[in-house]
Amino acid sequence: AVAKKEDAKIEGAVQIAVGIQKELDFAGWYTNVLIKSDMLDYYSVSGCYILKPWSYSVWEAIQAWFDARIKEMGVENAYFPLFVSAKVLEKEKDHVEGFAPEVAWVTRAGNTELEEPIAIRPTSETVMYPYYAKWIQSHRDLPLRLNQWNSVVRWEFKNPQPFLRTREFLWQEGHTAHLTKEGAGEEVLQILDLYRRVYEELLAVPVIPGIKSEKEKFAGGLYTTTIEGFIPTTGRGIQAGTSHCLGQNFSKMFNIVVEDPNAGTGENASKIFVWQNSWGLSTRTIGVMVMVHGDNKGLVLPPRVASIQVVIVPCGVTAKTSDDLRKRIPDECDALAKKLKKAGIKARADLREGYTPGYKFNDWELKGVPIRLEIGPADLEKDQTLSVRRDTGEKAPIKMATVVEDVGKLLETIQSDMFQKAKATYESRIKIVYDWKDFVPTLDNKCVVIMPWCEVEACEDDIKERSGRLALGEQVDERAPSAGAKSLAFPLDQSKYPKIEPGKTKCPACGSDAKRWMLFGRSY
Ligand code: AMP
Repeated sequence: AVAKKEDAKIEGAVQIAVGIQKELDFAGWYTNVLIKSDMLDYYSVSGCYILKPWSYSVWEAIQAWFDARIKEMGVENAYFPLFVSAKVLEKEKDHVEGFAPEVAWVTRAGNTELEEPIAIRPTSETVMYPYYAKWIQSHRDLPLRLNQWNSVVRWEFKNPQPFLRTREFLWQEGHTAHLTKEGAGEEVLQILDLYRRVYEELLAVPVIPGIKSEKEKFAGGLYTTTIEGFIPTTGRGIQAGTSHCLGQNFSKMFNIVVEDPNAGTGENASKIFVWQNSWGLSTRTIGVMVMVHGDNKGLVLPPRVASIQVVIVPCGVTAKTSDDLRKRIPDECDALAKKLKKAGIKARADLREGYTPGYKFNDWELKGVPIRLEIGPADLEKDQTLSVRRDTGEKAPIKMATVVEDVGKLLETIQSDMFQKAKATYESRIKIVYDWKDFVPTLDNKCVVIMPWCEVEACEDDIKERSGRLALGEQVDERAPSAGAKSLAFPLDQSKYPKIEPGKTKCPACGSDAKRWMLFGRSY
């Protein structure tokens, strides 16, 4: 329904497979791709969506990869309840203040009003930490590292967007406790790097690892590290995953303490509040992947997360084709699929009857399958198959004798080309700004800004104000995520940019001394 409404708005929208052109009406294109590729369906509760197998399988691929990596690090999976009492939720003041506006409450069971309303977890710090206090009795119990694969509920009033911002979303949340700040800090970055690799190595989406400003950090945490993605069509940044060092804020509130193993005993004993981290990656990943790679023919799936990597379509059968060939072509398609599958390539032969090859081509293009292999009478004669890449449309014959090897290589090439292309685009849209007059035009050019920044919160607020409503000279919906530019992250790699000279390099927004390079952008 949304897509239809958007459709009517756009004049001159050309009828294409997706129905709406990506460059003309991005929001309409996005929802159309999701629906038509069979990734998603709408649901009767606003802000909630159904993840169909075509998208859930991408999540499963991410899960499998990430789960194996964190287990290698010594993290174990567990499951904690969905509900949390008001008393416990409100224990860490800054934390609850950050989340309060979005918490959903259960107030009634059947016809009975509950004596005390029960919250549905927006994240599980407060659910888990009373038990961390119980389970961590000695420094020998550290580090404690648990993760859960679950869903959380945040009743956001900003525009919901499938995958990017939904009221219930799937994620993993890791919660760990350490003896030292260094131990915690090391893990924060290890996890951040795994998040980077999920995006870059699985989804072929480039991200910039960095640190959030004080204003944008996780409510109640000490500092937040983030990977920042970018949607080129709109020029907006997107927080793609976060790994927080919570410091000792929660351990103090929940009394998670051990005796200092390096101090004396008895009278000399001293207590250490544990150092904690929490880290989360959600199904937002899928939305970012669709937005970055999709085109006007539909989805473009990176091979490593595609549940079908290769589709084999029988072609070229006409009235004149002999009975023998008519039977042999589908058999060959089937045999090839089996051969590829045996080698670990996710292949399927599309032998549906009553559909033309053209229909099948469009169908699998819409669904983003990385490679199509065509087999027709001429191919059989030459003992080859014609390969067609979804990402570039490039066609090339492949000899049957080397098909397993060649298709495997082609999948790797596609994966790498998709990443390189997206990376080049992202890099070309990051602009150094030294002068405030360039700030808003840079954003309006669908770029993000990297600038030397003073790190003052009032300046951050001012930047948001001046790059939103005022700059555009129009009333912008306060809830619109693009109202003004936000600070996105201090890139971890500051050495990529010119040296900031203390006392000399100024913040372009307010003129005071700049401290570090900060990425600013309109964002989701
Ligand atoms: P947070 O606990 O706020 O740091 O969120 C962890 C991660 O979940 C963020 O980095 C986002 O990528 C993602 N996320 C946050 N809110 C939503 C939402 N409403 N829908 C989907 N993903 C979300």
